[in-house]
Amino acid sequence: MSSILRIALQKSGRLSEDSYQLFKECGIRFDYGTGKLKSVSSNFPAEFLFLRDDDIPGYVEDGVADLGIVGENVAVETARNVVTMHRLGFSKCRLSIAIPRGKAWNGISDLNGKNVATSYPRLLGKYLQEQGVSAEIHEISGSVEIAPSIGLAEAVCDIVSSGSTLLSNGLHEVETIFRSEAILVANPTLDDERQTLANKLLFRIKSVQAAKNNKYIVLNAPNEALTHITSLLPGMKSPTVTPLATEGWSSVHSVINENDFWENIEAIRAAGAEGILVIPIEKMIH
Ligand code: ATP
Ligand code: MG
Repeated sequence: MSSILRIALQKSGRLSEDSYQLFKECGIRFDYGTGKLKSVSSNFPAEFLFLRDDDIPGYVEDGVADLGIVGENVAVETARNVVTMHRLGFSKCRLSIAIPRGKAWNGISDLNGKNVATSYPRLLGKYLQEQGVSAEIHEISGSVEIAPSIGLAEAVCDIVSSGSTLLSNGLHEVETIFRSEAILVANPTLDDERQTLANKLLFRIKSVQAAKNNKYIVLNAPNEALTHITSLLPGMKSPTVTPLATEGWSSVHSVINENDFWENIEAIRAAGAEGILVIPIEKMIH
């Protein structure tokens, strides 16, 4: 195979670290850092392009890059013709409407006839239309949160994660219009070789994500409690049970999901398990 997959990543910003980390965990090595605009992987047929996040959907649509990692907010706002291949679960944030603190808020219809400043005119416009609200949208490219204090708008619509930027500008969040996370996007017309490479990458990403969501668990159980305990531990197929040197006891190995972890651990202890070890999993292949 001679094709090489071109992957666009944010050069430096809120998507970068987690994107670089993801490829590292997928065992794909490449150099990045000061001033580098592109880099070829030493162990996977991929070339990485380091760009401003706003430009990534356009480059992927045009085929300059085959894949890209971008915030869903930017992917939807730029409305380029790209395919969402996978949700990546990092760079989570929300797009919200905020108004000056102390101002009353009775609901989205308060924005009728008002000016709203945002860098997301498309997303905001769609939301206001759905809600039947008619407001003036002022598109500005940055520092949206100062708009009310300089008299440019009565409200803003901007990205929020903790809310501290809004707070320090005398604003408070009144309505969330969109929830975002990083996504892997692809050019819709990848040729067969590139599609195969993209699928290979996706398989690795899913294995890394599955591993993160699960833990390996080892415990000792009295034999009379085995049926009950193993029923609490479905594992990938079923738990491994081996006898301990101590008569009447067994060692049980399994995999448990991060989400039900604490509840499961309590039930397992209550059933008589002892010496419970919980170990991170590096990769998980289904
Ligand atoms: P660039 O210089 O590449 O244009 P930028 O300043 O436009 O960068 P960042 O602030 O790095 O963009 O944010 C990139 C993406 O990360 C956003 O589009 C959004 O999806 C997500 N994001 C933004 N703010 C946060 C936050 N506080 N926490 C988590 N994710 C965020
Ligand atoms: Mg940007």
